[in-house]
Amino acid sequence: MHVGRVSGSDRNAMTEQELKRLRADFPILATRVGRQPLAYFDNAATTQKPRVVIDTISNYYRKKNANVHRAAHHLAAEATLAYETARARVARWLNVDAREIIWTRGTTESINLVAQAFLAERLEPGDSILLMASNHHANIVPWQQLARRHRSELLIVDLLPSGDIDLEQYQRLLKREPKLVALTQVSNALGTIYPIKQMVEEARKAGAWTLVDGAQAQPHFDVDLKHINPDFYAFSGHKTFAPTGIGVLYGRYELLEEMPPWQTGGEMIDSVSFTQTSFAPPPLRFEAGTPNICGALGLAAAIDYLERLDRHACEAHEQHLLERARAGLQKLDGVSVLPAGECRVALLSCTFEKHQVADVAAYLDTLGIAVRAGNHCAQPLMQLLNVDASLRISFAFYNTEQEVDRLLDALAELLGGATLDEAADLSNALQRVTEAADWPSRFTALLHLGVNLPAVSADLRQPEWEITGCATRSWMRLERLTEGQLHLETDADSRLMRGLLYLICAEVNSKRPDEINLLRLEDKLVKMGFEAQLSQTRGNAVRQILAHLRGLVATQ
Ligand code: PMP
Repeated sequence: MHVGRVSGSDRNAMTEQELKRLRADFPILATRVGRQPLAYFDNAATTQKPRVVIDTISNYYRKKNANVHRAAHHLAAEATLAYETARARVARWLNVDAREIIWTRGTTESINLVAQAFLAERLEPGDSILLMASNHHANIVPWQQLARRHRSELLIVDLLPSGDIDLEQYQRLLKREPKLVALTQVSNALGTIYPIKQMVEEARKAGAWTLVDGAQAQPHFDVDLKHINPDFYAFSGHKTFAPTGIGVLYGRYELLEEMPPWQTGGEMIDSVSFTQTSFAPPPLRFEAGTPNICGALGLAAAIDYLERLDRHACEAHEQHLLERARAGLQKLDGVSVLPAGECRVALLSCTFEKHQVADVAAYLDTLGIAVRAGNHCAQPLMQLLNVDASLRISFAFYNTEQEVDRLLDALAELLGGATLDEAADLSNALQRVTEAADWPSRFTALLHLGVNLPAVSADLRQPEWEITGCATRSWMRLERLTEGQLHLETDADSRLMRGLLYLICAEVNSKRPDEINLLRLEDKLVKMGFEAQLSQTRGNAVRQILAHLRGLVATQ
């Protein structure tokens, strides 16, 4: 059904003309970030929206807006019909019955619904729930909280060093007869496609209910739920080219029928009196209150759009981009790509020997290249892989070879430019920062400075010297030398912050307190673009640092 395999073939499955036409469907792709064209590689966080989806939402509010299921007038009947047709559209897309499709806000809400309205009713003390180590927090925390309340246990299946799931361990854990197995179809942090059909089948044989988190599968390939046959399946509209705030929970009808509502109120009832309420049958039983009507319509429009595409060609194109990026990264020194197993969607995670991933992401951002840096809501996985964070580059079918090359060139420039330089002359390096002509060159100069700064004494990294409120851990100690001058020492986890703090040290050191003009320093940093540029990725780091420094100077 899907390619999902990096074959090493360099065949591009889409002509340039086709790709150009397809990109024209996504208005945002033509925008610029500052002076740079946007290269959007954060598709695993959320995908961009085609014009048909945007128009559907806009047309709904222009022409169809009314509340659903209360059809005393023409517009309400039309809105209800469109809303229920959208449900049927999703059902057809997943190859299930429309009564088995519940609208939610997204994957997170779908999983919480199953945890609270399904498993909470069935979980006994001593029972277990089986999870994958690479599950997203949304597919861990609801089960963990439930297990805690019901005095039951979580079983975790690990990854092999290759990145594939450890199926032998999985089979061993199934022998412990977990009540429910919560699986991930595609890892959001690594991109691995797991053998979900086999895993669901084995779980069923072991007597467990199954839930599959399909959030990262839907954007890349078609999914036939009759083929996979889970009890529950969840995904989010916004990762599948549809609006935010709409998601889907599929549930096997006979299970939904047995489930009590999880939220109560209007829309989900048959009748209400002060002594008794009877509930509507599924799916409305699980949809209390006015739903996200235009979100549902937007999701149906996104599905219509995807069905008009040749998804095999799209996937082959994405795999081609992935392979190009992987091959390019391999040629760069000091980059490690995290293992993602044999089958993967077009997504890769990497770390850098000499740089924090947040610095690299912020640098790429200066060039209009959007990637994600962090733990990707998969902290247990990161702990298993022994990394704090990774840089995630996630592709969609609208990305281009040129964008991949821009990314690779930018990384080559950064890793080549901001290297350890035995003979680094710090005052020269500092001058390059202050005299840089634009923000991207200032950024690189700052990193270069940060990389080449001599090590500071380890005792600086104490809680009493820590600057609170910065996105990266940073420390600052101010002392008064016997001659009355100040001596400022700083350190930070991030090279970028180390560079910035050194710049501040240069303004403070060897001066007396009355010679320091913090307002002028702030003005200088603002003029150099620090506040405007860093506040997007580092909160208000500059202000935090200066406030901290102000406090220290005042005590001298
Ligand atoms: N599961 C996976 C695999 C995801 O990638 C995400 C989103 N990053 C979620 C669950 C949560 O999705 P949402 O925030 O749309 O509820």
